[in-house]
Order: sequence, then structure tokens, then C-alpha cells
Amino acid sequence: MSSIFDLTINELESVLVSNGFKKFNATQVFEGIYKKRVSSFNDISNISKELKEFLNKNYSIEYFSVIDKLTSSDTTKYLLNINNEQVECVLMLHNYANSLCISTQVGCNMGCAFCESGKLKKVRNLTCAEIVGQVLTIEKEENIRVQNIVIMGIGEPFDNFDNLCKALSNFTNSKGVNIGSRHITVSTCGLVPKIREFSNLEGQVNLAISLHAPNDEVRNKLMPINKAYPIKEVMEAIDYYIEKTNRRVTIEYIMLDGINDSVESAKELSNLLKGKLVYVNLIPYNSTSSSEFNRSKKENIMKFYDTLKKNNIEVTIRKEMGKDIKGACGQLRANYLDIK
Ligand code: SF4
Repeated sequence: MSSIFDLTINELESVLVSNGFKKFNATQVFEGIYKKRVSSFNDISNISKELKEFLNKNYSIEYFSVIDKLTSSDTTKYLLNINNEQVECVLMLHNYANSLCISTQVGCNMGCAFCESGKLKKVRNLTCAEIVGQVLTIEKEENIRVQNIVIMGIGEPFDNFDNLCKALSNFTNSKGVNIGSRHITVSTCGLVPKIREFSNLEGQVNLAISLHAPNDEVRNKLMPINKAYPIKEVMEAIDYYIEKTNRRVTIEYIMLDGINDSVESAKELSNLLKGKLVYVNLIPYNSTSSSEFNRSKKENIMKFYDTLKKNNIEVTIRKEMGKDIKGACGQLRANYLDIK
């Protein structure tokens, strides 16, 4: 039996029509599971007994259980049991919105040197239902509505492209989760062909690029993917996305002491980004006991920030959330697996 959350509304329409039901029944079912959040198909009052029987026989309404939960004042980190795999997501309560960072894979094969998740190799892709279900589970657990989704948790979203696209369709569909595409951001380490494919999709979901270095020499050391898709190609793909969508791209840049945080690096980064519709998000690194990297010193982060500003590059320093609760991605899952 498969999860109903695995189907987009178009897929559900074809399944229902090919089984003798009406196309509009798909809207009724979507509204029941996404708007009313029923936990049984029997609770959808406006569909026939035959349709309930069909749905009960073929589909489930699957939410996940919370294995572990760590809370600070503004951030809660969850470890979910998703079909016997442990998956993390993080809820951040900003004063303007509830923002949820979700995962797309169990582990990750991209091997970024600074990343906890990269140490846990990819076990498998998450299905559409498992990606969508993270949002539905946290909303139910906390009795809240999520207004922003950041697809930046464990895994490389573009390495699970088809399921990502289906999940985005269910997130943005007005009969589904109904979150505007401008309130959703997908973050990639730079899979160039997929950035281009993503740019061609309808819906204009925001794009963030994990750049983390101003040149290939440094980036090759931090991110193995750079050998396949060097910075020049990533920049061309960013230009393509901007041309297609006219949306501003976020450049993520983790500040690592002595590695990528000099004023020279800031100048080089400014030259790379000059004239592009981008803004840089500087992320103070969360070092862990097993990490070979340290967080940049505060004064170096400020100098880096000032250099970008002086060169007319838009820049922010990410507000730190959840530092006291194992904030680095993958840490909760890594700890859980260690304990086991
Ligand atoms: S930073 Fe992202 S892409 Fe890189 S290893 Fe970690 S989860 Fe994978």
C-alpha cells in the first residue's frame, strides 16, 4: 500500500479516472488530506462510499513519529522515524514566519568536507511522500502552520530531482499544502545540469547555491562536486536561472577559520559575483568535536562582510539559531546512530 502523499494532484486524477471515478474527486481527496488533515479517508464527508473503499484498499495517510526533539528558544530540531530511517528537520520560529528546514535523502553522497551529513553516506532517496510528510508531521506535532520551507537539510535535493519536483508540486498546489513558491527555497551544492532543469520549471521556487569558496582551488578542497562542476559552470547556471526567473539567488558561504575567510577571499568573491542578482549569506560555522575546521573569528567575519559591502555585494550574516541544540545539519542523526 502506498502513501497518498506520494501522488501529485494530476497523478491522483489519472488514477481515479482510470478506476471509474471523476476527475473532480481528486480535488475532494486533496482537500480532505491537506486542508482538513483527516487521518482516515472515511472522514472525508463529501466522497462516495465506493471511493472511500478504493482509497482504503490502495493508499494510506502516513504521518511519522518523532524519535527525538531538542528545543531552544527559537529553534526545535526533530529526528523523525521515516519508514525505519532517521531523518532530521529543523523548525525555526522567526518573528515573520514559521520556517521548516527539511531533508531529501537519508545521508548524502556529496562528501562536503565540513558537513556532518556528508559523513553518513547516502542510504536512499526520500520519496515524495516522505519529503511532504516532514512538513505535515511537524505541523501536526506542534499544531502550527509552516509558512516557509527551506530544502537544505540532509541530502542534495537535485540528486533526488524527480521526487523533489513532485513534492514541490504538492507544497505549492493551492489544493495541497498551499505554500507560495516564493516562500520555498531549494539549496544545492551545484549540480549544474539540474540547476538548468530547475530553472525551466514553472513556479519559480527560490534557489540557494552552497558556494563556500571564491575559487576552484579552495572549493575543490571543500566540495568534491566542484571537480565535476567548477565555479565557472556554476556561475553560468546561476545566470541562466536569473535570466529564466528574474529571481534573486542566495549564495551560501560557510565561514571557516583560515580557509576561506580572508579579506583577499572576500575581494575575489566580490569579483565573481559583481553585477549578478544575488545576495551572500555568511554562515558562521558550527564546529563539532569530530570536525577538522573551526569557526572564523568574529572580527574576520566582520571584515569579510565589510569588504563585500564596500564592493556593492548584498550580504547578511546568518542569525544563529539552535547552536546550543546540535545545530549543524546531520548532528542529531549522527548522535542517534552512535548511540545505537
Ligand atoms: S553540505 Fe549538503 S550536499 Fe554537502 S555533504 Fe552536506 S548535505 Fe550533502
